[in-house]
Amino acid sequence: MSRNLPIRQARRNEWVRLDFVSRLPIELWSQTSLSLHRLSLQPTLDSGLSYSYPVILSSAVVFLPAILYYRKTTEDQPHVVSLMKIFRTDPEETRSASAPSSQAKQYSRIKLIFSLVGTVLSFAVTLAILVSGISLRADILAHSSTDSPYIALLLFSALLGILNGIVSLPLSFYSGYVLEHRFSLSNQNFFQWLWEHLKAFLVGIPIAAPLALLFYFFLREYQSFWWLPVATAMFVVSIMLSKIAPVFIMPLFYKFTPLENDLLKERILTLCKNTRMNVTGIFTFNLSKTTKKANAGFTGIGKSKRIILGDTLMQHFSNDEIETVFAHELGHYVHGHIWKNILLGTLSIYLGLFITSKLYFVSLGWFGFSAIDQLAALPLLVLWLGVYSVVTSPLSNVLSRKYEFEADRYALEKTGNVSAFASTMRKLAEMNLADAAPHPIIEFLFYSHPSIEKRIHAAENA
Ligand SMILES: [Zn+2]
Repeated sequence: MSRNLPIRQARRNEWVRLDFVSRLPIELWSQTSLSLHRLSLQPTLDSGLSYSYPVILSSAVVFLPAILYYRKTTEDQPHVVSLMKIFRTDPEETRSASAPSSQAKQYSRIKLIFSLVGTVLSFAVTLAILVSGISLRADILAHSSTDSPYIALLLFSALLGILNGIVSLPLSFYSGYVLEHRFSLSNQNFFQWLWEHLKAFLVGIPIAAPLALLFYFFLREYQSFWWLPVATAMFVVSIMLSKIAPVFIMPLFYKFTPLENDLLKERILTLCKNTRMNVTGIFTFNLSKTTKKANAGFTGIGKSKRIILGDTLMQHFSNDEIETVFAHELGHYVHGHIWKNILLGTLSIYLGLFITSKLYFVSLGWFGFSAIDQLAALPLLVLWLGVYSVVTSPLSNVLSRKYEFEADRYALEKTGNVSAFASTMRKLAEMNLADAAPHPIIEFLFYSHPSIEKRIHAAENA
């Protein structure tokens, strides 16, 4: 999904998507609606939170409990760590004082550790909620307030969501706000940061609540076959969201403006020739309101398809470089990556929900639960979904990196400009503090984009 060239790449690389658990529904979801998650929204997802929200929320959709639960970081992924070297007071100075690559390594490492800690914490909290009886108490409380099982579900979700929010907030705030400021990557003050979160939350509720209710309806009515209608519903909703997100949801967070630079437009039009991409689908957006990082992405399907370029990119990159980025995004479109992702993601969802439903059923007794639609047992389902997500994530990263190379190749064929490609990559790495050459194992497990060094190497040796 989010494969935006270098762009996304840069950011995405380091953002390491470890915190699956927290994003478990999201992860599952994302596999279907990749379009959103990886190809489209992600770009921004990496760099900031706002964008990711629609995706996340969409995921939430089906598993409101899960989401509320693990709502934690939706935004900026990663989390905590040792701040050892970041204590200098003047961030700007800090930044220029040390070599960009070592800063990037440090930033990436911290983000990774936060992400890992966040994941472990998510599992731990879920387990604690189950074992300590909190889940059971929340169940009883919810049912004592209403006779409707559906309203009880919403109350239950809200209770655990608040609890989870309290536990995960410090991590989320540190990684998403404090760290970004320490490394001079943020353009937001505290209130802006808070407002973006609040907005995402407010936008998410009306989307997530009906979906959670639908999920619960299937669980109650179909019992052990619940996974079948739920997976089907996720597929349908992911297509719908892919269609509406670029037009209705993303504009709630950023302002999109049709591309104005005439010279650039001309070149982009040339690239679009013989593809079904139209220049009316090319937008710039005010990414700088949240971050100094540069990013771009391809988003949407059908008539809502768009290539979006961050204003930070427009300001700091030459026309040759922007053209390269654009061609990469176009490559995702021409290769049909969003659709491939949706199809593969759908298979993965069916498989994942099927396996999860079995594990869930078998393990109910471990915690003293007797019915799969018992509210108190739902965190257990979330837990299994998290496990599935963690296990399959490296696989989806392998695929994602393959798509990135394909889009890179497409960009190079179209522009024939290897040096612009290489300078684009380097600039992105520098602006976004991406680790250009992570450890191969780290890259294999966590990177949705190939490392910048590998991408440059592939381009120069093509
Ligand atoms: Zn890409």
